[in-house]
Amino acid sequence: MAFTYSPPDVLVAGGGNAALCAALCAREAGATVVIIESAPKHLRAGNSRHARNFRRMSETYPEDEYFADLLRVTGGRTNEGLARLAIRDTPECYAWMKTYGVRFQQALEGTLHLDRTNAFFLGGGKALTNTYYTAAERMGISVLYDSEIVGLRINNGTFESATIEWQGKTFEDNRAKAFVAASGGFEANIDWLREAWGDAAKNFMIRGTPNNKGRVLRLLLDAGADRVGDASQCHAIAVDARGPKFDGGIVTRLDTIPLGIVVNKHAQRFYDEGEDLWPKRYAIWGRLIAQQPDQIACSIIDSKIMGKFLPSAFPPFEAASIAELARLLNLDSAALAETIDRYNAAVQPGQFDLSLLDNCRTQGLAPEKTHWAQRIDTPPFYGYPLRPGITFTYLGVKVNQSAAVLFGGKPSPNIFSAGEMMAGNILGQGYLAGIGMTIGTVFGRIAGQEAARSVRR
Ligand SMILES: Cc1cc2nc3c(=O)[nH]c(=O)nc-3n(C[C@H](O)[C@H](O)[C@H](O)COP(=O)(O)OP(=O)(O)OC[C@H]3O[C@@H](n4cnc5c(N)ncnc54)[C@H](O)[C@@H]3O)c2cc1C
Repeated sequence: MAFTYSPPDVLVAGGGNAALCAALCAREAGATVVIIESAPKHLRAGNSRHARNFRRMSETYPEDEYFADLLRVTGGRTNEGLARLAIRDTPECYAWMKTYGVRFQQALEGTLHLDRTNAFFLGGGKALTNTYYTAAERMGISVLYDSEIVGLRINNGTFESATIEWQGKTFEDNRAKAFVAASGGFEANIDWLREAWGDAAKNFMIRGTPNNKGRVLRLLLDAGADRVGDASQCHAIAVDARGPKFDGGIVTRLDTIPLGIVVNKHAQRFYDEGEDLWPKRYAIWGRLIAQQPDQIACSIIDSKIMGKFLPSAFPPFEAASIAELARLLNLDSAALAETIDRYNAAVQPGQFDLSLLDNCRTQGLAPEKTHWAQRIDTPPFYGYPLRPGITFTYLGVKVNQSAAVLFGGKPSPNIFSAGEMMAGNILGQGYLAGIGMTIGTVFGRIAGQEAARSVRR
């Protein structure tokens, strides 16, 4: 294929939600734009294509409640100015998305608790990003697929040139005037994860794209960009251990945890499965399993529970007895029987109700199960093997309210960042469902507008 590359005003690294929002806004402001997307066309749009919703402020979900929710999950580890900026901008983002033809739908069964706070994309993130790509094409934005930013020349915080690899060729663009770094976190880079997690990292599953290896993030940090967040902080949930290593998406997530017990490879429980309502706790289980031997665990339920959770992508292991289930799950059968006997004996009478913090709990067990504790006594018995599934990492570059990357505390005149790569400014730890796409959309739009403005200066 003949190769032509015209240096743009604004060069955008990444092809997901944040990059697309930046590219569209830079183009709206009159700049010429090229998107460098490392994935092939059919796998474009990174983790964004797996997302289903974004969290937005509204009349029924005011700024202060949104911010209070964020403060709670992050334990205060957030930049209030940037967080409030993101929250306040969401109504405008919602309207802007619609102008491009993005469509929304009601929350469906299993996600109803998010109906008030989150807007769901009709067709999910795939439809959302396809809509943006179609608009980008219509507006004359060039997209190079299978291409990668492999080098950056940055002088004292100012972007000078980018080295791009495209189908085996390497070339330098030293005419682009501004650079938007929106190429995700480093969750697909096992070696980098290993720096924070040690050997445990080799057993992590990556829920999204294999392309987010943090290459641009590393280039920026090496060039002196200020760092935010720490490498061990990430969004990680429990996924079915039988799923693919990468790109399992939303269907390998398992929601059985609060309904039964979870044991490690020694058939021992290690955490209160019923600590809080599931939407508030699902995102701690990736980290919990990562801390267990060999990073493997099993969720165990009985037939009373079947049908009470979102269907799983893989059928559970099924057995008529605990001993048989232990064999199927590779657990010591005596140890599992003892754990379940002890748990069953500690379960107190109560009224089972998944919609609230019910009074079904154990007494005298370590760790206790504080809600939804029911005896595991009705065959057949079922088990799911679990692994930590990383969604995205939080270590990133520091930005200001113009999405400009900071170098030694000073904003770069022409380097901007959006999305996962700077999410750590707002998410020091923990997670609030739907805020990943909020951060990408808000700061993507700002980065695009500011990059275009910097070109005109
Ligand atoms: C299974 C799953 C479900 C999720 N569900 C939700 C949800 O419902 N709501 C929500 O808010 N968030 C959700 N998230 C998180 C959300 O997807 C991310 O926060 C968001 O997509 C980040 O957008 P981004 O543009 O920063 O990164 P991405 O969408 O991942 O895009 C990064 C892009 O950069 C490209 N790239 C990487 N390196 C380079 C390089 N060197 N050069 C060029 N290109 C490069 C990649 O190919 C990729 O296209 C989910 C994530 C996953 C994995």
